Amino acid sequence: MDSEQLLYEVNELNHLFRDSTTIEALLDKAVEMVAARTHCAVCSIYLYDPQERSLTLRATRGLNPESVGKVRLRLGQGLTGLALKEMKTVCEKDASRNPNYTFFPGIFEERFDAFLALPIARGISKMGVLVLQRGTGESFTEADVRALETVASQLANIIENAQFLLGMHEPRSQRPTTQATAAGQLKLIKGKVASEGFAYAPAMVIDKQKNLSLLLQHRFEGHYGIEDFHDAIARTAAQLEELQERVESKLSDAASLIFAAHLMILKDKAFIDKIVQQIEGGVNPPVAVAEVSSQFVQTFLTSDNAYMREKVNDIEDLAIRLVNNLIRVGEDTQIYRGHVILTRDLYPSDLLKLSSEEACAVILVGGGVTSHIAILARSLSMPMVIADNFDLLGLPDGTPILVDAEIGNVFVDPDDHVLEKFHSQQRVRLTVEEQARLIQPETLTSDAVPIRLLANINLLTDVVLASKLKCSGVGLYRTEFPFIIRTMFPSEAEQFVIYSKLVESMRGKPVTFRTLDAGGDKILSYYHDIQEQNPAMGMRSIRFSLQNRAIFSEQVRAILRAGLDADLRIMFPMISSVDDFCRAREVVLESIDTLSRQGIAHNGKPKLGMMVELPSVIELIEDFAALVEFFSIGTNDFIQFMLGVDRTNDSVADFYLPHHPSVLRALSRIVRAGNRSGREVSVCGDMAHEQQYVPFLLGIGVRTLSVDPAYLLRIQQTIAGTSIPEAEATAQAMLAQSRTCDIEAILKTQATTD
Ligand code: PEP
Ligand code: MG
Repeated sequence: MDSEQLLYEVNELNHLFRDSTTIEALLDKAVEMVAARTHCAVCSIYLYDPQERSLTLRATRGLNPESVGKVRLRLGQGLTGLALKEMKTVCEKDASRNPNYTFFPGIFEERFDAFLALPIARGISKMGVLVLQRGTGESFTEADVRALETVASQLANIIENAQFLLGMHEPRSQRPTTQATAAGQLKLIKGKVASEGFAYAPAMVIDKQKNLSLLLQHRFEGHYGIEDFHDAIARTAAQLEELQERVESKLSDAASLIFAAHLMILKDKAFIDKIVQQIEGGVNPPVAVAEVSSQFVQTFLTSDNAYMREKVNDIEDLAIRLVNNLIRVGEDTQIYRGHVILTRDLYPSDLLKLSSEEACAVILVGGGVTSHIAILARSLSMPMVIADNFDLLGLPDGTPILVDAEIGNVFVDPDDHVLEKFHSQQRVRLTVEEQARLIQPETLTSDAVPIRLLANINLLTDVVLASKLKCSGVGLYRTEFPFIIRTMFPSEAEQFVIYSKLVESMRGKPVTFRTLDAGGDKILSYYHDIQEQNPAMGMRSIRFSLQNRAIFSEQVRAILRAGLDADLRIMFPMISSVDDFCRAREVVLESIDTLSRQGIAHNGKPKLGMMVELPSVIELIEDFAALVEFFSIGTNDFIQFMLGVDRTNDSVADFYLPHHPSVLRALSRIVRAGNRSGREVSVCGDMAHEQQYVPFLLGIGVRTLSVDPAYLLRIQQTIAGTSIPEAEATAQAMLAQSRTCDIEAILKTQATTD
């Protein structure tokens, strides 16, 4: 079975959501479908209860239906329990011969010898087991096993969403709400740029508490009946399905089941019954929707589980859609379209939703932005400013807002003078087509030294601009984005499809995959339940991958397979020691070996490199140079750890200095060591796209820069205006200073002579 086809089939599993109102019905349909597709006589699903450490048979096709709910196994008991305990697939030609086999009278499984048990898990969290059985002589092939492992991983996704509905009834808490703000009270708010761009549009505040309390306080003029409510449900479901399809076609790598939770809540019996009860008791339907939704929000807000808390936005969003459809203002499915969104919480999935609905810009109120949100916003071309002024959340919806996310200004209800200035700036801004016309196929300094200008890719949408602007390849593909936005770890097959698209789009140019950089501020909400005191220095990045070998190997296999004919480079993030690098390299070599033995096409000779992000690398740089094939300096983390300044903390932003003398001297030392041993050293952190630092980087010997596609033209032009002797002189002058203020003076002189 080829993986593209498999994914198509697995996608059908997602559609189970649409037709199921209970978990039982959903699981029944799942076993029915999997059994039919795989031609197995028996397909069963066991779900795991972590408190009891036991598995219960919850659905079956082929075994005695009366055994559902009755057959229970301890973790590790029988082949099924063993598969989950050890988190590995168990495949037997004749199950009854295995010493771990447990016989259950009355379930009639003795007729089926060929046995396959696949753990259903999200990361390291155990959820259940998918069991398939066939008659004697019909054993499972390796291809069957691989295909079914993908099915099991997709099932985990579906079951997780279903289980989240079961957990809806928890204690409540209060959160402060925002006071109303008159537009005149605020004029200009200075914020921090997270993603460049401009917008002038009416405001829409997304504030979980506020929007729901507004709905609760609203006096609905019309009176509606139960029929109207059911009608509104149908219309809302159809709109959400349409949105899901749209987001999937636009952002196929990241947008898995973004609206799944909405649809599940819409089908949830407890939710619907509560509303119906209120309506039957005489409450106007829009009021009933608002009240019941508010109860659910309160419940979710208090959850210890980050995944559950993330769902609060979904409930609020759903309530607004339902009420709009009830009172018939919901003709437009895109409630955020054409608005500047003001909010204090933003998850990656929210950003995708806002982008797919064509919101104009986002103002994130109250700081606390994680770096991946900013990176994602850039990839989605969504202008974003972080503003530390809670009054913004009190603005009435519809207030005109001008967002200048080039310098971080937010104008509330701007006057004609401000607007005129904005429009004249707009006129000189370059379109993508204009940029494509101006960019040169080769990047040269003014004295004709070639510089390799590569693109940083976060989402596949970035590839479009990168290709239009003729980048020389991908210097950094942040593979974590498909992991961050999903509700669980993407399977090898899913990763393979995403990675293949990237490789194909680059047509033989180098493609650098950075292995999963999860943790720190790049939180996987489905995994990072445990609060770490200091996540930036916690179980993250390469440490996470080495600790979760199965996840790491799956990713490496997907990269090697997708990179079959590519100029493939793999680099590891946050390497702190030679040992880290050797262990990570070992996983790649082992994967190459396994793929060769399995006869699966792959790239057996990827270049292996490392990110330089930690100060511990500096003292070992010559040792690393003897081992690695290339270096890529991640200045974002490198500066954070060199200077001990949290890159996401606004209050210490003034201490985050790329031009700190220690940073500059360390960079120079790294580049010198790399160049001396013939190892390419690129810079892929934000410093590479900050024009003022380009002469310094060229001056210390950097010849490869990797930047977000939006910066390609700008950086090419800066390079074209710089000669290597000038750059070397600037770099030497900067390296000779021991005080930041003196380095700033040099940067200033450089800027005025440009
Ligand atoms: C960096 O740290 O500079 C880097 C490129 O990685 P990220 O920004 O994804 O942490
Ligand atoms: Mg980094």
